[in-house]
Amino acid sequence: MREVLLVGLLMMTGSCWQSVELLAAENLVGKQTMESYEIWCDGELIGQGTAEVLGDSTADAIWMLFRTVNLRVITSQASSSSADTDTAPLEIHGAIELRTSTAGRAACDQLALLPTTDGWRVHPADVLRCALVRNDTSDHDAANRTLGKTAPLPRRSIVIAHRGASGYLPEHTQASACLAYGLGADYVEQDVVLTKESVPIVLHDIHLDTVTDVAIQFPNRARPDGRYYALDFTWDEIKTLQVHERTAHKRNLDGTWNPVFPERFPVGKSSFRLSSLSEMIELIQGLNHSTGKRVGIYPELKHPSWHRKQGYDLSKVTLQMLTEFGYRDHGDAIYVQCFEPEELKRIRTELKSELPLIQLIDSDHDGDQLWSPAGLAEIGRYADAVGPSLERIFTVAADGQVNYNPHVATAHSVGLVVHPWTLRTDSLPDNVTSTDKLMEIIRHADLDGFFSDFPDRTRF
Ligand code: CA
Repeated sequence: MREVLLVGLLMMTGSCWQSVELLAAENLVGKQTMESYEIWCDGELIGQGTAEVLGDSTADAIWMLFRTVNLRVITSQASSSSADTDTAPLEIHGAIELRTSTAGRAACDQLALLPTTDGWRVHPADVLRCALVRNDTSDHDAANRTLGKTAPLPRRSIVIAHRGASGYLPEHTQASACLAYGLGADYVEQDVVLTKESVPIVLHDIHLDTVTDVAIQFPNRARPDGRYYALDFTWDEIKTLQVHERTAHKRNLDGTWNPVFPERFPVGKSSFRLSSLSEMIELIQGLNHSTGKRVGIYPELKHPSWHRKQGYDLSKVTLQMLTEFGYRDHGDAIYVQCFEPEELKRIRTELKSELPLIQLIDSDHDGDQLWSPAGLAEIGRYADAVGPSLERIFTVAADGQVNYNPHVATAHSVGLVVHPWTLRTDSLPDNVTSTDKLMEIIRHADLDGFFSDFPDRTRF
């Protein structure tokens, strides 16, 4: 029966490599031990072996455990079933269960393995996908494992309007937010910085000069670096500024602007203003009232450590305002974003917020640390979501081959939903030839949502 099953399984082996990795357990952390395990498929034992655990952190332990897996029972059938037996992965489908002696159990519906000289092993690049049911739940109560985070959020497929419908109208204006709402966005994003008197306003940069005419209206108010900081202006002053499509922060010598996206809304046409955060929330909540929809807000705390050095507490002020507007609980239609891990931890612990938090992950070295098994396991302790840059999700080679990053599944395995940024139909990723192709790639990336400048053209 076992041989029949295994031959049947091997018939499913092919080019459709699907990365899968099994989730291990925290009670192995810090120990050097051998863990025995069994793999069952549709009620049949199909493999067993041992795995060495050497990790000194939760994620390392998870990683090491399955880098050393060896299956003992399916080698010979594999070698006679395929033309490229040396390298062909074995993909198993069915009700798969991993049973370990001490770590716990994990379940999944597919499992991919690579042949080795003495058996099979899960590929090092495989990812965590299976939901672990631990043998010992007493040590893994959510309150002990996390920094005040409640249960994982359910997975959905949402479109977050990035700075509103910023592909069509100047970013972060009420016009841009309204259009995003009308185009069916699930959430509308607000970047948040403070004014001189600590009013939270919706603005992407700590500077005003890339999206407003501040240099014309207040030519003597730049700091020595030549930039105009929102923190140096009162809200009454900022309200007078004309907002335009994003440009380089200095005008050209002939007085014309140098737009970042020349095909977007013409710079200097019509009339737009910045909004305070309270105005923007009132707009979204007002539209929710008049339409009966439940569109969410998606505020980002911009450079909180910089604000603190200037003597301002961006997070505290913003969270107080969110509370006043009724955003208090984990299930509310809101995500709070930030690039700074320590600030998100502070929001969870010191400021005791239960709002859904998203750890943004840039494409730099710090981002590399976060976008790793160890980094994601740590993020899973305090946040609900990760927002990596798009190139961390997939890359496309010159010949069109799409390479998906395994850590989307790693994030899912530690209870994080994944909302990457940013889809732009007028600025496609390298070697992606059309918006249709981009969306085809996105639909296969197993995402839970994404930020888009064009919320109507990037639904998935
Ligand atoms: Ca943002």
